[in-house]
Amino acid sequence: MNIVKVNASKKYDVIIGSKTASLLPEKINELFGNVKVCIVTDDTVAGLHLDSLKNELNRNHIINEAFVFPHGENSKCPEVLFELLEFLATKHFSRKDVIVALGGGVTGDLTGLAAALYMRGMHLVQMPTTLLAMVDSSVGGKTAVNLKAGKNLAGVFNQPELVLCDTDMLSTLPAEYFAEGMAEVIKYGVIADKELFDVVKNGSIEENLEAIITRCVAIKRDVVGEDEFDTGKRQLLNFGHTLAHSIEKESNFTISHGNAVAMGMVIISEIAWKNGMSVERCQDEIVDALLENNLPIACPYKNSELYYATENDKKSASGRISIVVPEKIGSCNIIDIPLAEFRELLK
Ligand code: MG
Repeated sequence: MNIVKVNASKKYDVIIGSKTASLLPEKINELFGNVKVCIVTDDTVAGLHLDSLKNELNRNHIINEAFVFPHGENSKCPEVLFELLEFLATKHFSRKDVIVALGGGVTGDLTGLAAALYMRGMHLVQMPTTLLAMVDSSVGGKTAVNLKAGKNLAGVFNQPELVLCDTDMLSTLPAEYFAEGMAEVIKYGVIADKELFDVVKNGSIEENLEAIITRCVAIKRDVVGEDEFDTGKRQLLNFGHTLAHSIEKESNFTISHGNAVAMGMVIISEIAWKNGMSVERCQDEIVDALLENNLPIACPYKNSELYYATENDKKSASGRISIVVPEKIGSCNIIDIPLAEFRELLK
């Protein structure tokens, strides 16, 4: 078991390892005292993990309710958010109580936002069940729902007070979801850690899983610690993501986030190398790492199509855009350029 200590506007522990889900009752007592718990989860994860978690809470005499919503990105919307808020009110939750996000990125983002809004803020615990949520979305405090105009357009920064990453839960994760998480792991390698990148490129995942997750969380912790509110260094975490969001949008969200990030990393690395922004040619190594981890390397859309989707992205404030380009594997730079220049680069 590993513990990563996060030092943001809230201080909290990310506990990573086998059977860490069973720590929930004692941690709730320790952190919050005598409280009620609302578990939020989707119908897929409910079938796998909800009963055992409820049993654990019941055994420890912690009153709990569960809000279960239909799985999928479509549930990350204002309608489900407000259903959840109404549920909390109907079940008489107070701001002293705890909301637990049990699931992947959709669950974490939706629940994190509900936790910030309900009675102006209640306690939040993240229990990620996917690799992607463990290494990325459960840590760092970004929460949001999607609007019709785009992804993550309505949200707040809201750090959790505890994150429990139970690596045993990954054994029920379908291979394509596991691969999606690996896209983010590869991203961490490119932006900050050549050694991590090499481990992942060589496919030594299973035997190093706890260490890999811990390393990714520590990198995210360091970046978020320096720039919690995403005005500078945190943008490094967007490597591959600016184009990924456009790819997801162009596909009407039929291409998953992880797959889109994989494609986005390849395109931006090629652009960076062609335009003299990289010291080393990175795209071949990135392609190798993606293929080793069953991720796609080719995007079905033309770069010009992606440009138009990017123009409407929230990251393109005031006619400029920040892009993250690899200098070499293990180090990236944030470059702020006018949108017109970005359009030229994409040609
Ligand atoms: Mg991501």
